[in-house]
Amino acid sequence: MKKIVVLGGGYAGVLTAKKLAKKFKKDKNVEITLIDKQAYHTMLTELHEVAAGRVDEESIRMDLKNIFAGRNVNVVIDEIKNVDFDKKVLTSENTEYAYDYLVMATGCKPTFFGIPGSEHAHQLWSYTDAVNLKHHILNMFREASLTSDKEKRKELLTFVTVGAGFTGVEMAGELGEWKEELCRSFHISEDEVSLYIVDFAPKVLPMYPDKLIKKAEKHLVKLGNQMVMNSAVSEIKADSVVLNKGEKVINTRTVIWAAGIEGSDIVDTIEVEKAGRGRIVTNAQLQSQDHEDVYVVGDNIFFIPEGEERPVPQMVENAEHSAPVVAHNIFVDIKGGEHKAYKPTFHGSMVCIGGRYGVAQVGMPGMWLNFSGFMAMLSKHFINIIYFIQVLGFNKIWSYIMHEFFHVKNNRSFVGGLLSNSSPVFWKFPLRIFVGFMWMQQGLTKLPKIVHDFNNVFLLPQPPKADAVGAASGAVSDVVGAVSGAVTEVV
Ligand SMILES: Cc1cc2nc3c(=O)[nH]c(=O)nc-3n(C[C@H](O)[C@H](O)[C@H](O)COP(=O)(O)OP(=O)(O)OC[C@H]3O[C@@H](n4cnc5c(N)ncnc54)[C@H](O)[C@@H]3O)c2cc1C
Repeated sequence: MKKIVVLGGGYAGVLTAKKLAKKFKKDKNVEITLIDKQAYHTMLTELHEVAAGRVDEESIRMDLKNIFAGRNVNVVIDEIKNVDFDKKVLTSENTEYAYDYLVMATGCKPTFFGIPGSEHAHQLWSYTDAVNLKHHILNMFREASLTSDKEKRKELLTFVTVGAGFTGVEMAGELGEWKEELCRSFHISEDEVSLYIVDFAPKVLPMYPDKLIKKAEKHLVKLGNQMVMNSAVSEIKADSVVLNKGEKVINTRTVIWAAGIEGSDIVDTIEVEKAGRGRIVTNAQLQSQDHEDVYVVGDNIFFIPEGEERPVPQMVENAEHSAPVVAHNIFVDIKGGEHKAYKPTFHGSMVCIGGRYGVAQVGMPGMWLNFSGFMAMLSKHFINIIYFIQVLGFNKIWSYIMHEFFHVKNNRSFVGGLLSNSSPVFWKFPLRIFVGFMWMQQGLTKLPKIVHDFNNVFLLPQPPKADAVGAASGAVSDVVGAVSGAVTEVV
C-alpha cells in the first residue's frame, strides 16, 4: 500500500488531492489523505468581501469533507507540528501519519518584519481573520455612535490599511464602499470617518503600468481613502500607528496589516532548503531539493522557471498549474513513466476596489491588456469562476454567482442592484434585455442601407432635387392633359 499525504486544503492542496484521486480511482493499493488544521477550505481571494460586510461569512468557505464526498480521499482535521523526513512521518500534537509521498501545500501567513506592536494589528489571511475584522469594524462604529467625545469618536472612526499591494488595495476599496452603509446605519456623518492607506512604496499596485495605477489611486481617493505613500510603519500601538520613526502618528484603533507574507509555520519548522521568505526550494519536477518523495505546490513553491528571473508568483494560478504536475509526477513514481517539468504561463491579475470597480492586466507574456471598471470586474469574476470550477466544483460556482450578483446588498456589485432579487428593479432586467435586443436587431437591419448609401444615415426621405421636381411636374401635366382629352371625348 502506497500512502500519499497532501498537507493543506487550500487551492493547491485540494486540487492536487482531486487530481490524485482521479488518477488512482480504481487503485486499491494507493491511499490518499488530505490533512488540514481547519475543517473547511477558505476562498482566500474573497476575504476582504467578508471583512467589509459585502458577502455572507459562510459564502467563502466550504467543508472539506463535502468537497471530497464520494472520492477516494480521506480528510483528516489536524494541525501538523513537524515532519520527520527520515522516518517519513508527520506529527501533530497527538497523532503520527506515515507517508510514502508527501505534498506540501501549507500556504503562507502575514509577516510583520519585526515591527513592534503586531499584536495590535488585524491580519487578513484566514476566515477567522476576516470575520474578526468585520466585527471589530462594526464595534468601532457602534462605540463611536455612543460617545459624544470628539477625540474619541475620531480615533474610533479612523481606519488604517498598511500595504498598497493587492490585498491592501482590495481591503481599502471595500472599506471605502462599506463606510457609506455603516454611516447610514449608525447615524454618523461620513465626514467623521477617516480612511488611510499606508505604504513605503511611492505608489499603489507597483506591479501595474502607471495608467492603471493612476486609475486605482483615483478610485481609492473617490471612496474616501487618503494615500500616505513613502511611509514606513515604525510601531503599532493599541490606539495609534507610528510612521517614519515618529514623523507622523495616526490615532486609530484599527490597523489592518496587508504589508507582506512569509511561509507557513510548519515550513518554518521543517528542515528543507528554503528561499524567498519561507518557501521550499524545488527542482523543475516540483520535488523538494532535499527529499525526492516530498513534492511542493502553490504558495510553498520556490522555483524560478527556465528563462525567468523571478520565482513563480504566490497566486491562485500558480496553485492551479502546479497541482496537476505534482499529481502526474507522483503517479509516475508509483506506476512508471516520464516526469513532467513545471513550465507555467501566467495570465495576469485583477484587483477589485470595492464591489463596483476594479483594475486588471490580463493576457500573456508579450501581449498584455489593461482593463479598468466594468471590463476589469467582468474578467475578475470570469477568472474566479474558472478557478472555482476546477477546485471546488459547480455547486460552489452556483453559490458564488448568487452572492456576487443576486444577493447583492446596497448595490455593491459591478452590475449594481440590477440582478439583485432583493432589489425593486429586478423586474426591469428582462425588459432591458428585450429593449437592448430590439435596438440591436433594428440597427443591424438598417446597417446595409447605410453602407449602400451614406445619405441614408438618418433614414429620412431625401429632399426633392430640382430636376426631379421638373420631371414630376411634367408627368403631372401629361396626366392632366390625358384626363381633360378623355373628358372632351365623352362630352
Ligand atoms: C485577502 C487575499 C486576497 C487574495 N487575492 C488574490 C487574487 O485576487 N488572485 C490571486 O491569484 N491570489 C490572491 N491571493 C493569494 C492566494 O489566495 C494564494 O496564492 C493561494 O491561496 C495559495 O494557495 P495554497 O493552496 O498554496 O495556500 P492556502 O490557500 O493558503 O492554503 C493553505 C492551507 O494549508 C493549511 N495549513 C497550513 N499549515 C498547516 C498545518 N501545519 N497543518 C495542517 N494544515 C495546515 C491551511 O489551513 C490552509 O487551508 C489572495 C490572498 C489573500 C489573503
